[in-house]
Amino acid sequence: MDNGTICFFVVVGVVALWLYSRGEKRRDEAVNKFKTRCGECEFTSAWLPESAAQEAMIDHYAAEHPGTPPGGLIQFR
Ligand SMILES: [Zn+2]
Repeated sequence: MDNGTICFFVVVGVVALWLYSRGEKRRDEAVNKFKTRCGECEFTSAWLPESAAQEAMIDHYAAEHPGTPPGGLIQFR
């Protein structure tokens, strides 16, 4: 294998990695469409899949508002 061939493989690897990370980001945006906002305080979750956003709010209530039934708003994008 000469130097030119090695260089070619490095470029292919970098482009593949770049395409992969771009696809990953787009997938995140397609799936993470839900954000929950606490009904008791200013807390909002990150953009998450629906079930994870609900879990984040349930966890938040358990930690910050024990004894209060989880409520608040779900935002979509
Ligand atoms: Zn809260």
